[in-house]
Amino acid sequence: MAEHIDINELHWLLDIVQSIDVGVVVMDRDYNVEVWNSFMENHSGVGADKAARQSLFTLFPEIDQGWFTHKVETAVMLGTRAFTIWEQRPNLVHFKSYQPITGMADEMYQNVTILPLRSSTGKTDHVCLIIYDVTGVAVNKRQLESANTKLQELALRDGLTGLLNRRYWESCLEREFARHQRYDNPVSLVIFDIDHFKRVNDTYGHQTGDEVIRETARITSQLVRETDFAGRYGGEEFVVLLPGTTLDGAAQFAERLRSTIERQQLDYQGSPLTFTISLGVATLADDMAGYQALLERADKALYQSKEGGRNQVTVSR
Ligand code: GH3
Ligand code: MG
Ligand code: MG
Repeated sequence: MAEHIDINELHWLLDIVQSIDVGVVVMDRDYNVEVWNSFMENHSGVGADKAARQSLFTLFPEIDQGWFTHKVETAVMLGTRAFTIWEQRPNLVHFKSYQPITGMADEMYQNVTILPLRSSTGKTDHVCLIIYDVTGVAVNKRQLESANTKLQELALRDGLTGLLNRRYWESCLEREFARHQRYDNPVSLVIFDIDHFKRVNDTYGHQTGDEVIRETARITSQLVRETDFAGRYGGEEFVVLLPGTTLDGAAQFAERLRSTIERQQLDYQGSPLTFTISLGVATLADDMAGYQALLERADKALYQSKEGGRNQVTVSR
């Protein structure tokens, strides 16, 4: 502060510091509080008289002391300001957020400026903390991010079943094909189709048909591994890509899927409804020029399963 400021102007400054809507704390070099404005009083519930001469770390035990003192000491040494931003550290001190918002944030998000204060002798014997409430901005950004993630997720998935949609699933297949060419890891594929599905629709109606499709997807999702890609390929046709799985492993998976679905009973107006699937299994081989070849191979095997009487697995060898 300039030396010629008279006492009136000092009062104005104090009034301003009191009434601005940011937190202002001035501490000495031992981190003991000397100034504590009304923002700090309101949000901490601690009055200025109580806070005075107390250590910042007693008032806010949640502050990571090692990190914070390093930051402050560096700022003092360099004689420059330092900042913390909510993206890196949501807050310095735990204040409740009273903003009438979605309930996503009940703690205040903060940006903090650390300001070394030099006295007229040129010595830095105080440090000022300015705490900004950025909850509104932070919550908006978080909501936008989560909405975007959901949208992206939706764009990859089929609406009826929640499985990967055909376009995205094919891009996964393409990627796995490229990886196989580099690393020569096994990649297998199971394709399957619900048997006599037209009959399901005709007998029980389209909605029950949809229910059968959803149930098939649900069982498939339960049986696949975390690293597998299960997709809806067409109306009642599904695909599962199994990276790192050999032909025999994929055949076992296919058989497990077939028998689980065969045993499954849906309830149709009080009577049991059962259905079956036919499956084709193939694995990536060196003579395949593109990922489409793997699909064709598996599809041919599926066709054989249909020809052979349905409700069966055919492995392309
Ligand atoms: P196959 O055993 O040879 O597979 O006989 P299929 O009756 O299942 O024959 P196909 O695969 O040709 O028939 C598929 C039928 O599935 C045709 C179409 O009306 C119906 N379908 C396609 N998508 C949907 C859907 O989303 N919901 C319902 N309910 N039906 C669908
Ligand atoms: Mg069918
Ligand atoms: Mg079909």
